Amino acid sequence: MQPYLKRAWAEVSLARLKKNVEIIKSLNSPETEIMAVVKADAYGHGYEHIVKCLADDCNIRYFAVSNLDEAIAVRQFCSDAEILILGYTPPEYAHEISMYNIIQGVVSYEYAEKLSHNTPAPIRCHVKIDTGMGRIGLRYNNTKDCADEIRKIMQINKISVEGIYTHFAVADSDTPDNIAYTDTQEKFILDTYDELVSMGVTLPQVHFMNSAATCYRNSPRSTLSRAGIIIYGLHPDISLDIPDGIEPVMELKAVISQVKTVEAGTCISYGRTFTAPDEMRVATVTIGYADGYSRLLSSKGEILVHGKRCKIIGRVCMDQLMIDVSEVPQAESGDIVTLIGRDGDDIITADELASIYGTIGYEVVCGISKRVPRIYID
Ligand SMILES: *Cc1c(COP(=O)(O)O)cnc(C)c1O
Repeated sequence: MQPYLKRAWAEVSLARLKKNVEIIKSLNSPETEIMAVVKADAYGHGYEHIVKCLADDCNIRYFAVSNLDEAIAVRQFCSDAEILILGYTPPEYAHEISMYNIIQGVVSYEYAEKLSHNTPAPIRCHVKIDTGMGRIGLRYNNTKDCADEIRKIMQINKISVEGIYTHFAVADSDTPDNIAYTDTQEKFILDTYDELVSMGVTLPQVHFMNSAATCYRNSPRSTLSRAGIIIYGLHPDISLDIPDGIEPVMELKAVISQVKTVEAGTCISYGRTFTAPDEMRVATVTIGYADGYSRLLSSKGEILVHGKRCKIIGRVCMDQLMIDVSEVPQAESGDIVTLIGRDGDDIITADELASIYGTIGYEVVCGISKRVPRIYID
């Protein structure tokens, strides 16, 4: 393990990652392979170790990223992986896409043509169909038109279409209305695939499952399950349970730099938003919003100290924050505290923090900043 500054750090458990992947594999039918979504530096967990662990220890061959820089980063760590770029690549980079043997998500005939004009070698593609997310992709109107458009794209010189895919908008919801919506999205992509088959075109890949679909509506017809958040052990949606045994991969820790007893009336932190009502013990902790621990947690978040929850008091600063340790008499300078993770019998998850300030666990883990070293443990 590299030496690191014990100020604020994230512990990433590769053992938990492997366990999560095993559970996801057991959910999938034998027809479906995992495509690990490792965009945004593996949801803030760090490409290098995550990709190597997934490829070498979990036998994962398929990876998805958001852009070309990420694809090239993943390629560095895994020379034989299949890497799909889900998002936009400016067509002038088409040559790089083929050079690194990357697969590009293609959203229209025009885009595919532009790519083809910018590369001397063929480009591998999966055509993205917009069946209801309203973000990117060929807009699905009816099966015939959609299949015809894909056929047109396949006829472009140097464009090699290997699959089609779509993205669900509400697979993480269990309301009847949303379930029906996702049913329709799934029907549209499968109808398109089947229409292509009836035209004599059998593509190797058709995929539509994200983490939520993998957990709640697994389909053997999806050749890949594009699993992101669930690999890292967080909920696609906090209100729905995830399969037993899946656990968060990342913990976030810092230390107490100072403990002091303050008298009633003492103001704590910027803006004087907190005033001690009585004598209390206050600890200062070495993490702040520049580390990605949101300022929106001011006077709201809790931190585990010796297995006990302690409230943040006053505003979270850029590099430090203060907590009430009146109930933890043994707390002292140098103690390790847990902002995300388990300490004793209690656990604070990224999902819990997210719900306090109105976001999702995805944003919490992606937001842990560069300044925070990722430490890999087994
Ligand atoms: C991010 C993303 C995923 C993974 O989503 P999770 O909810 O993290 O599983 C899958 N497909 C596409 C197109 C995405 O953008």
